[in-house]
Amino acid sequence: MARVFSGIQPSGELHIGNYLGAIRNWVELQHKYESFFSIVDYHAITVSYEPADLRRRTRDMAISLVAAGVDPARCTLFLQSAVSEHTELAWIFNTVTPLGELERQTQYKDKSSRQESLLAGLLNYPVLQAADIALYKSDLVPVGEDQVQHLELAREIVRRWNTKFSVEFFVEPKPFLTPTRRIMGLDGRAKMSKSLGNTVGLLDEPSVIWEKLRPAVTDPARVRKTDPGTPEICNIYHIHQAFSPPETVEHVAQQCRSAGWGCIDCKRVLQDSMEAELGPIRARAAELRATPELLDDALSTGAVNAKRVASATLGEAKQIMGLR
Ligand code: ADP
Repeated sequence: MARVFSGIQPSGELHIGNYLGAIRNWVELQHKYESFFSIVDYHAITVSYEPADLRRRTRDMAISLVAAGVDPARCTLFLQSAVSEHTELAWIFNTVTPLGELERQTQYKDKSSRQESLLAGLLNYPVLQAADIALYKSDLVPVGEDQVQHLELAREIVRRWNTKFSVEFFVEPKPFLTPTRRIMGLDGRAKMSKSLGNTVGLLDEPSVIWEKLRPAVTDPARVRKTDPGTPEICNIYHIHQAFSPPETVEHVAQQCRSAGWGCIDCKRVLQDSMEAELGPIRARAAELRATPELLDDALSTGAVNAKRVASATLGEAKQIMGLR
């Protein structure tokens, strides 16, 4: 069976950008592939943080993932720092990665412009990411569009390593995108991202979601309720496409174009569609929170499975390289 690997930072609870852009795919792929999903805590320490806060965010991410349908009985779900092979292979990959390639990564440029003191770990982030994927020899990586550039670099790193040692050992990974590969934030300005504070949490209560949806940016042409709009350029319409049934999406588009509805009417219908999917996820999260030992067990089993595969890959790679 072909393998998939994907990782997510322990940023606390999932937001609907992560969910629609990546995690919904994880849930589907776990039925078709041998799947490895990791909460990548070694990635999270490339910016300043508090240990107690990291612990809490890691737990919240694990709860969100399992509540969203990532099933530890069907896939290998684990914490990156429990499988030390990730950092070991990252060092090896550092020795074949051109510095210039790292410096031109968009995410590095964005994040480094927002940091006071720059750490080498932030620059080397995509090298660790390449190692994460390569350890499982996965050819498909379900991610959002913002990760495509990192995956190109991962392919390049793997290719350079294979060429250097004249083998076809590591597999060049390809991104696996969802139909909603890039969800914009509710401010309509940039992608939805935890660090930009423009998210809707997957586990937010309906009243909180409504407080965020109500003022959210729509088609700027719709100043008055009687002004017709263009659904294709409206972020709310895009979120409808992700959550509402096709006939509702069709109806919404028609009401927008004909100015039959105001944007608030459209948002109310969206809220109902979201609640149909998110309500059960919220309920599962509450159950998981009440039984922390079940989640701990699942993550421990996941780490053992992941380590078995990762240590075999790393062992072979080291042998090819003339290491112990
Ligand atoms: P964030 O940008 O909020 O810090 P991460 O970088 O941890 O989120 O991303 C986790 C996963 O979610 C990645 O696969 C990423 O591509 C996807 N993702 C993040 N934000 C979005 C978005 N706005 N739209 C679609 N996918 C996204």
